[in-house]
Amino acid sequence: AGSSVCFRRNVCSSPSRLQSCMSAWVIDQYGTNEVLRYTEEATIPSVSSASEVLIKVHAAGLNPLDLSMRGGYGAKLLKLRRDPLSVMNSDSEFPLILGRDVSGVVVECGSAVSHFAPGDEVWAAVPPWKQGSLADFVTLTEFEVSHKPKSLSHIEAASIPYVANTALSALVNAGGLCRDSSSNKRVLITGGSGGVGTFSIQLLKAWGAHVTVTCSQNAEGLVRGLGADEVVDYTAGDPAKQLDVMEKFDVILDNVGGETEQWAMGLLKPWSGAKYITLVTPLLFNTDSMGLLDGTVQTGLALQKKAIQSISSRGVFYRWGFYAPDGPALDEVRNLVDAGKILPVVEAHFQFSHVPQGFQKLEQGHARGKTVVRVA
Ligand code: NDP
Repeated sequence: AGSSVCFRRNVCSSPSRLQSCMSAWVIDQYGTNEVLRYTEEATIPSVSSASEVLIKVHAAGLNPLDLSMRGGYGAKLLKLRRDPLSVMNSDSEFPLILGRDVSGVVVECGSAVSHFAPGDEVWAAVPPWKQGSLADFVTLTEFEVSHKPKSLSHIEAASIPYVANTALSALVNAGGLCRDSSSNKRVLITGGSGGVGTFSIQLLKAWGAHVTVTCSQNAEGLVRGLGADEVVDYTAGDPAKQLDVMEKFDVILDNVGGETEQWAMGLLKPWSGAKYITLVTPLLFNTDSMGLLDGTVQTGLALQKKAIQSISSRGVFYRWGFYAPDGPALDEVRNLVDAGKILPVVEAHFQFSHVPQGFQKLEQGHARGKTVVRVA
């Protein structure tokens, strides 16, 4: 692996009958950036169920999860999700392809696919239990896919699906917010300058909410430009003190985790249905370290304890938010994007030959939006 790979890219827009191999970045073991390996001999995924579509990848988005998965995070639970009945021939997940966002073109459809046809430009978030988008082709079910916004390039489009599916799942399912119920709501977003934050600010503003954001001082211009009403610089002093003088919040979306929940719960309106949702949960860490059964049980008990404490002592709901694949949710996002209400925030993009540099960029932290890879 590394930056000096010799590239002979396959430039076909769809695989011919004889062609069975494609270019991809794979890992054959978990580890640091050295495990990333470029190959032109990855197997082209096939449309193996009636509801699947084969997509020619034009751009792939990177997420913090790709870094974690490269190191083995979530391996036990994801392996179970890939093969719940242990019926696969191989019990190895390798070679594993990372990359969670895709923007590309449909090249083949299963017999029951009704919403897509070859030639359609699409975008999607690839579930972490499926082979990822750092490859020429990826397969997904049609329910995970959506038609790409016409106003965006593939690079721009690949910056949105995974954070959009995550934010929508967290804000709608866990937070109880939606387009028609947000106009009188005060929402606090911690970590507003990253991928999920920059998307969530725009979504909530499009829905009419009042949005307060915590971020570093040098991200204030970015988040205000995306619509944030109030900005708290967490590097300038205790954010809890700065936020405590403000009117209390209906929903907190926590993208930072750690000690945040200890000071943030008191910022919610008590006894009025207010909700704290964190995206930083211990589920996959616990199943990795304690095993599937113990990890799941311990995690469930910890969540239950916090939820009971929060409602009984403060009258607020404590919840975890998770990414959930959802093509129709991306349809709603597409409409907002094409209406100019949600902009892509691409901080950096890399050529396919420079995928390891893309991972290095993620590793440096301090994201200001998204990192994307041009695949085709
Ligand atoms: P990013 O890395 O894109 O963004 C994180 C942002 O938080 C950066 O801009 C960073 O900038 C900022 N930040 C760091 N520390 C603080 C702090 N103390 N206060 C305020 N801002 C801070 O991550 P994502 O937006 O993609 O994801 C956010 C979190 O959610 C990650 O932990 C991710 O793993 C998790 N996640 C969980 C999912 C789930 O299904 N549960 C799905 C998707 C994401 P700076 O350091 O310069 O301040």
